[in-house]
Amino acid sequence: MTSLAPHKKARALKPNSRRPAKELCSECGLCDTYYVHYVKEACAFLNQQIAELEEEAHGRSRDLDNADDIYFGVHRSMMAAKKKQPIEGAQWTGIVSSIACEMLTRGMVEGVVCVSNSSEDRFQPRPILARTTEEILSARVNKPTLSPNLSVLEEIEKSGMKRLLVIGVGCQIQALRSVEKQLGLEKLYVLGTPCVDNVTREGLDKFLKTTSKSPDTVVHYEFMQDFRVHFKHEDGSIELVPFFGLKTNQLKDVFAPSCMTCFDYVNSLADLVVGYMGAPFGWQWIVVRNETGEEMLEVVREQLHTQPVMSSGDRKQAVQNSIPAYDKGVTLPMWAAKMMGVVIEKIGPKGLEYARFSIDSHFTRNYLYLKRNYPEKLNAQVPDYAKKIVDQYKLPE
Ligand code: FAD
Ligand code: SF4
Repeated sequence: MTSLAPHKKARALKPNSRRPAKELCSECGLCDTYYVHYVKEACAFLNQQIAELEEEAHGRSRDLDNADDIYFGVHRSMMAAKKKQPIEGAQWTGIVSSIACEMLTRGMVEGVVCVSNSSEDRFQPRPILARTTEEILSARVNKPTLSPNLSVLEEIEKSGMKRLLVIGVGCQIQALRSVEKQLGLEKLYVLGTPCVDNVTREGLDKFLKTTSKSPDTVVHYEFMQDFRVHFKHEDGSIELVPFFGLKTNQLKDVFAPSCMTCFDYVNSLADLVVGYMGAPFGWQWIVVRNETGEEMLEVVREQLHTQPVMSSGDRKQAVQNSIPAYDKGVTLPMWAAKMMGVVIEKIGPKGLEYARFSIDSHFTRNYLYLKRNYPEKLNAQVPDYAKKIVDQYKLPE
């Protein structure tokens, strides 16, 4: 009897060998597996195909006449939420880990792709195919570094699993959706987080050293809705650094080139997205994209406080002002940055308007970066919804 392989295979690329996307590679992990065969079509940086994959995953692509679709992607509903009993040590309140644990415990899936860390280095990502809730919980909290989550894809086929949950960021999920049909699964659930400004492990060191007073004790950090970076240290103390005080001139080359050319901040292709930026301070932000996403959220409903999303303020002028300031690498003295932070927190954009502020700032920055460094990629790499967003602003040459 001959058994036909369900998909084509190629030899995985060697670790540290140059990837097809070259310096734009986000190390999503696909090329570490035999699914590298599909890289030309699947790689988010070689073949941006968000609209086509939205059709397949959600039944339609973004409606470009609908402002919320343009910004937040195809969705059925959005809300602010937090866990009634937060998970200790999670990035926020642990909604992501809770959904994964519930789905596994209820038998909806047999395994969960998530990213733990190495035993020596809390920020060194170690993708795993978790089969127990302990393993899922070991992956809680962001590893703010490029992470090859898809490197475990071969393991899935070998394990014989048929029902799977994958947790990941936009570039990983784009490649995953592209090879989804080759995985031989009965059901794939995709739980995404928004993602922006990711760094290599070395880049993270530079960011922490340039920005925090005690880089070695940082346990996690987040760019928060109050316009400050919150660093949490080992002793539980929180260090606050205003965005406007960041040493942008020294940090310009810290972010990975992949992240400087990415326009999928909101993880367009996940079934369910859990972030924070569209919610009031202290709350998480949930975007349900399709029926599968609804099913996933349902398993933790009882564990959540929820409230409707809100939006206030006007981001436009702040974004327009920030474009030349970032471009010239302007850094305010700390006293001025703190004052500006206090003012903007009082009168600045909140809720969904804060999310729009963050999306606009990053898309305009990335558009300029792409135009200056990879002009030949500009048309193909910038999706139509992102062009609409960028067109609202006046950009320097
Ligand atoms: P937890 O229960 O703590 O679980 C975190 C999950 O994230 C784990 O399952 C783990 O597998 C996964 N994970 C950790 N690191 C990575 C990684 N490098 N790649 C892929 N998966 C990973 N939200 C916003 O609203 N705006 C942002 O700008 C934003 N930027 C982000 C940047 C990065 C690099 C990451 C990883 C996330 C970002 N998020 C952002 C999402 C947000 O920080 C939280 O991860 C999300 O709200 C879930 O919190 P939680 O407490 O429910 O997660
Ligand atoms: Fe391969 Fe992923 Fe890098 Fe693209 S981003 S070259 S698919 S590892």
